[in-house]
Amino acid sequence: MEDEWTGLCTFPVLRAGYGFACTVVVMWSHKNPAGARHVTVEVFDPAFRADLASVLLDVRLHGGTYPPLYVDATVEGVSNWLEQDAALLRLVALQDGRVVGHVQIVAADTGDPDVAKALTDLGLAPKGFAESSRLFVHPEFRGLGIGRLLKRAAAERAWGLGLRPVSTVMVSQEESVALNRSEGWIESGSFTGKSGLVNLVFLAPEPSRLETDLVHAGVRDNGLGAVATGIEVSTTFSMAEPGKYGEFAYARSQNPTRKALEEALAKAEAGQRAMAFSSGLAAIDAVLRLLAPGERVLIGTDAYGGTWRLLDKVWSRHGIGVDVVDLTDLEKVASAWTAKTRMLMLESPSNPRLQVFDIPALGALVHGLGGLLVVDNTFATPYLQQPLTLDADVVVHSATKYLGGHSDVVAGALVVRDESLAKEFVFTQKAVGAVPGPFDSFLVLRGMRTLAVRVERQSATASKLASVLESHPAVSRVHYPGLVSHPQHGLAARQMRAFGGMLSVSLVGGRDAAVAMVKSTEVLTLAESLGAVESLIEHPASMTHAVNSGSALAVDPSLVRISVGLEDHWVLARDLRQALDRLL
Ligand code: PLP
Repeated sequence: MEDEWTGLCTFPVLRAGYGFACTVVVMWSHKNPAGARHVTVEVFDPAFRADLASVLLDVRLHGGTYPPLYVDATVEGVSNWLEQDAALLRLVALQDGRVVGHVQIVAADTGDPDVAKALTDLGLAPKGFAESSRLFVHPEFRGLGIGRLLKRAAAERAWGLGLRPVSTVMVSQEESVALNRSEGWIESGSFTGKSGLVNLVFLAPEPSRLETDLVHAGVRDNGLGAVATGIEVSTTFSMAEPGKYGEFAYARSQNPTRKALEEALAKAEAGQRAMAFSSGLAAIDAVLRLLAPGERVLIGTDAYGGTWRLLDKVWSRHGIGVDVVDLTDLEKVASAWTAKTRMLMLESPSNPRLQVFDIPALGALVHGLGGLLVVDNTFATPYLQQPLTLDADVVVHSATKYLGGHSDVVAGALVVRDESLAKEFVFTQKAVGAVPGPFDSFLVLRGMRTLAVRVERQSATASKLASVLESHPAVSRVHYPGLVSHPQHGLAARQMRAFGGMLSVSLVGGRDAAVAMVKSTEVLTLAESLGAVESLIEHPASMTHAVNSGSALAVDPSLVRISVGLEDHWVLARDLRQALDRLL
């Protein structure tokens, strides 16, 4: 069972006419709020028409094998779903009047192969879904609007609400009948023939202020009422007396625009202090400066080539050792830790294979061993995941990517909760001097104000593209945490708010196919970097990760990495499909 809320909704009672009855089974997990007392079920029709009328929905909630979750169910409204083809349910768990968790369910009945295909194309159903022999619909239901199910508009609405699919549950007619009969929902004989019932389970983000904070963070009042932070170019600031420093003295140490950016970064990552650097690698370099000769760093088998180069070719010369381990296996991590190891440095999701690592579990392990957990949050962004709240000690960013978001600035950042770590990094900023200038600081700050909308849209598009790619015969594997086929899908669903805009694909035709593919897209640009408004495609083994070759971090040459931008997802899907079709 997934370690998260899941809601299973079935539709056994579809009477000619109107409305449906629904049994909701809420399964317990450790993330579920212990002692949740109340679940409300709200029903929307996907087109958000106002005519949610009579209550035909009833709800039963079960404890399952976990501590029983006995809850009161309040049902509000019903979708006239025979016309609308799908319903959107929202379960809200309340504890002492506080929302402690919620689940969104898009429930759709299918059976029509066109509908199944549409769902697959929309990225709302897994590979093979359309061909599933379990998908049939009772003839009685045909022509009643079921075939118009969950069309693009409905799906877009779901995405627009910030919902994300966490799993797709297919319920056969037999399962559905059994479940609903046990609940007394169907009278025998009222449900005959074959009927495939499909439920799409969405998990909504926890209520968050982050979107709002990102829009307003780092805006400094200049005394004129300006609503955007200005670019302060002065490199030096006058002093009243020698040695008596004010807030700003010399711009390598601090500058008002950079300070505004650092405040915004700290807020975005739920940290106490943030330090901006001239690049992501300068930020990582500042972390490695915490180590003394002879000490060691532990990293995973998948990481950005530049990070590996910095460790393997630069810091090794200064006596810093590095050990590489499979971070999905906690036992291996524990045994790779030596008396000299000082930190675990990871990317989650990782570059370029999109592996996802259990940050709280690794945090507990590393802290138990007396070390630091450093998380490169470049791929996820603070919008999807705030590692400091998951027990990381240091968050690293290549702000060149999503934070800047427009491929027009190179910058980096560290964010921490601990004041003594902040002091070390502030000292490195001043002593080493790899800091961003005021214009670069301004660009990152400006990018961050739209981070939430960009990442939301990029995640939605990437999810759709991942499903499209997964069904292409030239593709052997799609690496995307939002796919049910991803080995850490459940963990990603628990740890991240959505699954991000990065994905990679392994191709059946190996290196040649990968090189041919990246050369033949027309909308996606062949280029390094990621996280910006335009979609990029690249071949890690010969580009961003060429330096990893021959090491434990070597990248499979059949891999192609895609950074999804803000273009229309149909356009991107078509472009990727034509590039892949050429390989057949
Ligand atoms: N971390 C990750 C995950 C990256 O992908 C990159 C660059 O691609 C970096 C760090 C380095 O950042 P920068 O290029 O800003 O130095």
